[in-house]
Amino acid sequence: MKLASFEIGGHPEIGLVAGTRIISLTRALPGLPGSMVEVIVHWQSVRAAIGELHLDSAPGFPLADVVLRAPIARPGKVMAIGMNYADHVAESGAKPPAHQVWFTKTVNSVHAPYAPIKLPRVSNAVDYEAELVFIIGTAGRYISKLAAPGHVFGYCVGNDVSARDWQLRTPQWVLGKSFDTHGPFGPWITTADEVGDPHRLGIRTRVNGELRQQSNTRELIFDVFEQIAHLSEVMTLEPGDVVFSGTPGGVGAAMKPPVYLRDADRVQCEVDELGMIEAVCEAE
Ligand code: MG
Repeated sequence: MKLASFEIGGHPEIGLVAGTRIISLTRALPGLPGSMVEVIVHWQSVRAAIGELHLDSAPGFPLADVVLRAPIARPGKVMAIGMNYADHVAESGAKPPAHQVWFTKTVNSVHAPYAPIKLPRVSNAVDYEAELVFIIGTAGRYISKLAAPGHVFGYCVGNDVSARDWQLRTPQWVLGKSFDTHGPFGPWITTADEVGDPHRLGIRTRVNGELRQQSNTRELIFDVFEQIAHLSEVMTLEPGDVVFSGTPGGVGAAMKPPVYLRDADRVQCEVDELGMIEAVCEAE
């Protein structure tokens, strides 16, 4: 299933994407929790209720008529791994990491899948990073790699927008990764059962139509389930937590000379089967 957070007439709703239509679960299922995190927490009963719906007659809208929001408005945490595709490690002039390299994108960075990305007045080096994003479904600590698939609720496309000047002038990347609007993801959550194996999906970025990144999630150095095992050694992963799983080669910072995002640039990030997110950049 494809679950979206959307608004129509300024009213926030949760929907089920069915082709070119979005069914309003908020309207069709009285008692549906108001937030996507709560829908995830109560997923067994919500899924059963969706199964009882007559989708053809359920209340809905043309997908084109609604505004998609970030699938999870306020995740408990947004974690992101760096240096996780060999070609991106090489273009960054780094060595393959012995350990998983983690940082957080603070939750203010969470942003809708088609909303403009702000180019902050204090940065001249804003860059894109297309990523497979996964959403935690079931809480856990010390989750084994073998058990990890059972803790994934679903997958999205993300853009780990990065202010390279801020990111790289200190050893700690968090500020450069956490500007407002710099964590768009979506366009919806495709549930894990629908995706199956997440390590076989083409991933790409286009800027103004020009192909910049093109790879496949099979190239992940540390795969999704190894990431869950490692992170959960440190922290309890909770329903609705958002994890960016790394970007392949082809970022603007690695071009010769580097090419950063400019006002009015159009950035499209896409992962096979999960959809595409798209933003026009806006100078602040
Ligand atoms: Mg990244």
